[in-house]
Amino acid sequence: MDLEQMTATAMRGTSITRDEALEVLAADDAETLSIVAAAGKVRRRFFGRGVRLNYLVSLKSGMCPENCSYCSQSLGSDADILRYTWLTDDQVHEAVEMGVSHGASTVCLVASGRGPSRREVAKVAGIVARIHAEHPGLHICTCLGFLDDDKAEQLAAAGSDRYNHNLNTAEEHYSDICSTHSYADRVNTVQTAQRAGISACSGLIAGMGETDEELVEVAFALRELGAESVPVNFLLPFEGTPLHSHRELTPQRCLRILSMMRLVHPDSELRSAAGREYHIRTLQPLVLEVCNSIFLGDYLTSEGQTGNDDLSMIRDAGFHIVDASDGDGGICFGRGNHERARQAVEEELDGLRAAQSHDRLDGDGVPIRLRGAGTARVPNV
Ligand code: SF4
Repeated sequence: MDLEQMTATAMRGTSITRDEALEVLAADDAETLSIVAAAGKVRRRFFGRGVRLNYLVSLKSGMCPENCSYCSQSLGSDADILRYTWLTDDQVHEAVEMGVSHGASTVCLVASGRGPSRREVAKVAGIVARIHAEHPGLHICTCLGFLDDDKAEQLAAAGSDRYNHNLNTAEEHYSDICSTHSYADRVNTVQTAQRAGISACSGLIAGMGETDEELVEVAFALRELGAESVPVNFLLPFEGTPLHSHRELTPQRCLRILSMMRLVHPDSELRSAAGREYHIRTLQPLVLEVCNSIFLGDYLTSEGQTGNDDLSMIRDAGFHIVDASDGDGGICFGRGNHERARQAVEEELDGLRAAQSHDRLDGDGVPIRLRGAGTARVPNV
């Protein structure tokens, strides 16, 4: 594996080869940190140390008639998730404000289902227009399932900057994970959104029994499709879903998958999406070396680490939140979010210090053990 050669190629904005991508995936755990460092050089070349924060708002949850086997929202899923129909305008407003106040520069409006009716598209178009009026610089991504040209144009006219529709896995693996629609259906919707002038957000889910060749296949398919934003999900094996027994990912493997994606998509917005906390665990700060985008706080049906922990991780790892056009690859995002986020972190830390100053922190802020052995308190397990 010639990491120097791969880095040089990607620094020019071109993809490494399929064989090189396979080598990255097949590398030993011992090589993972070198691979992350190589991908990190490419990430810094195009995005500096900026991190884009996306905030998910699940407008409608569960009860989908499709049978995507990885999805806790599919009709056959017994996963114990929240199931509800459309949020009210006030609930949407409240959710958006929460994301914006913590520094999100993109709000992702997601509704479960095969695709929106005309009435539902009109409803979401109204929501998009309202959010733009309240937060003119905020980026809005919509994710509503399959679209036709009319619906895509309506969303574009309302100001949907991006449309998310993931390819999820390689074409040859697709029928193993879903039978109610095809890979071609998904490609078609991504292209429909693009025809309407909406930027394509499309990514994958790793850990569904795919081969390395299939992972590389979908990585290159996303590049050929012109996805400008590429979310990488790691399968969350929800109890009650057909893929619940899959346990094929390790933190090191996840980091190699993300690094391979960076070397194939050097200058795309690469997002570590669902499964980051569950699979990457203590190595999460290394994600920021490779990805320039994460979701803030919770996902659609699962909880992430708290938004404040996300912000602390970004700061502690030496990165900063991307604001509108701030030179680290910012693209037309809302101004002022970075400063609001910094203030939110400071307030959070001040609150923690104040709350803990009497019984937990020493004079230098070292958290003294006051639980477990030698105390009446339960240990930190
Ligand atoms: S179409 Fe979307 S919401 Fe429905 S089961 Fe598939 S992934 Fe889940």
